[in-house]
Amino acid sequence: MNNRTFAIIKPDAFRNGYLGQILDRIIQADFRILGAKLIRMTRQQAEGFYAVHRGKPFYEELTRFMSSGPCMVLALEKENAVTAWRETIGATNPADAAPGTIRKDFATSLGENAVHGSDSDENAVKEIAFFFTEAELIANQ
Ligand code: UDP
Ligand code: MG
Repeated sequence: MNNRTFAIIKPDAFRNGYLGQILDRIIQADFRILGAKLIRMTRQQAEGFYAVHRGKPFYEELTRFMSSGPCMVLALEKENAVTAWRETIGATNPADAAPGTIRKDFATSLGENAVHGSDSDENAVKEIAFFFTEAELIANQ
């Protein structure tokens, strides 16, 4: 399944009023939204979602930030969705992100970088399943 990816419009983007503009970028880039939820993650959810980064120096700050306010989680569909979405969002550090990418235009800092994108098909499947049941996705309704 290489046509799905998982995205988060992170709390900084929501707080800064960029939810609508980022959704517009998603639609303009021809991703099909299979599922979307506005949630506020608990600290435990954020820790579970980013478990791969446990032990890294930024883990504490990252999980505190991700549970600091509302965010939108999305399941997206497009051909080669993982790669296409990583290209649309740009480099992790907005200072390195290419012009026209979401992180270049909307990120606050390396930590508060507006959006998340899965890094592989395998992780996309896991990350979608972390927040959505299959039955909740439009493709299955
Ligand atoms: N992050 C951070 N400092 C770092 C690296 C990452 O605060 O030095 C945060 C940032 O929010 C990033 C997230 O941790 O988006 C996950 O890091 P990863 O390396 O997986 O980057 P991504 O896949 O989000 O581009
Ligand atoms: Mg990552």
